[in-house]
Amino acid sequence: MLSELRVNGDRLWSRLMEMAGIGATAQGGCNRQALTDLDMAGRHLLSRWAEAAGCRVRTDAAGNLFIRRAGREDALAVVMTGSHLDTQPTGGKFDGVYGVLAGLEVIETLNDRSIPTLRPIELAVWCNEEGSRFPMAMMGSAIWSGRLALDTAYGLTDRAGTSVRQELERLGFPVSRGIARQAVKAAFEAHIEQGPVLEEKSKTIGVVTGVQHMSRHEVLIEGQEAHAGPTPMHLRRDPIRVLADLLPALYAATAQRGPDARFTVGFIETLPGSPNTVPGRLRFTVDIRHPDAGQYGALRAELERLVHGALARHALDGEVRCMWEAPGVSFDPSCVAAVRAAAAGLRLDAMEMVSGAGHDSCNVSAVAPTAMIFVPCAGGLSHNEAESALPADLTAGANVLLHAMLSMADS
Ligand SMILES: [Zn+2]
Repeated sequence: MLSELRVNGDRLWSRLMEMAGIGATAQGGCNRQALTDLDMAGRHLLSRWAEAAGCRVRTDAAGNLFIRRAGREDALAVVMTGSHLDTQPTGGKFDGVYGVLAGLEVIETLNDRSIPTLRPIELAVWCNEEGSRFPMAMMGSAIWSGRLALDTAYGLTDRAGTSVRQELERLGFPVSRGIARQAVKAAFEAHIEQGPVLEEKSKTIGVVTGVQHMSRHEVLIEGQEAHAGPTPMHLRRDPIRVLADLLPALYAATAQRGPDARFTVGFIETLPGSPNTVPGRLRFTVDIRHPDAGQYGALRAELERLVHGALARHALDGEVRCMWEAPGVSFDPSCVAAVRAAAAGLRLDAMEMVSGAGHDSCNVSAVAPTAMIFVPCAGGLSHNEAESALPADLTAGANVLLHAMLSMADS
């Protein structure tokens, strides 16, 4: 019975630990940044496992890696899974890596029982998901999906001035070739949640219905530098007055948008930054997120309105600039249903949720039906060397991936 099929959780765990040895840090994390020799060492290890499993391995001009298990009708659109092997400089063992090795585990499990599928199965390793070395998160999947021009990506440089193109050439990727995107019937990505919700609610599986809308803004306010002693309060042009008005108003506006709204001031800078000088200039960032397009748009508009209101009240000049915006994604209902059904068939405790972080699946979903599977991670920690997850949860997520993929691979 196909419904009784289960992945080998011990093999998955031991491979996660073996991969974590490449770029291992003293604090128990990983530093395997995109297109470094360590990134390549990780890909080589994966490729060796994949070839031993009878798969075909190929790379593309964007630095992506594809591992293919042939289907009975091999010309049909593939059922895809994948994630990334690159990490943050102080990254963990599971972010991205889990999705890749869970995909390999699906292939191994089908091989163990000699189960053919009608459609081919492909495991994608997307290049430079983290965007920590080359400043473009989700780069490889963006190129593959046609959202990012190859030449734009090739021109990105790291802090040493080395370009993506130079590294791809050095590492032997086929840079001169264009991108030929394979037809995809359905795509799935398993990932640690990178947040605390599943753990808090004691759920094993997150059925991810989409990714929230998000944007980052910079607020600049011009004041006038003045001595903190002799200058009376009413004669100052103090930009901190604007911040003092804004923070409570923005926290309140966020609270009004429900528990899914997110508002973060992650950076505040005053110039000249002296304890006894009224700042001449204030700069801070605002990160806004919401899964609902209407609520998100309202919160964004509120930010503009509140900043300009506070500027007018204090007779100061300033501006709000949007530095970056990623529209939300609604995953494909049939793929989401496949994940939900797989979790139910395995009798796992599951809940529907929206991802708070961006993933390669956001790009993939622009050109193919896509959904994601989340598993809990300890304390919701990620982008952190202490990132950790329980073997049983990782196994459960890989089983959901297996059955969601199987439900699409034979039709
Ligand atoms: Zn990731």
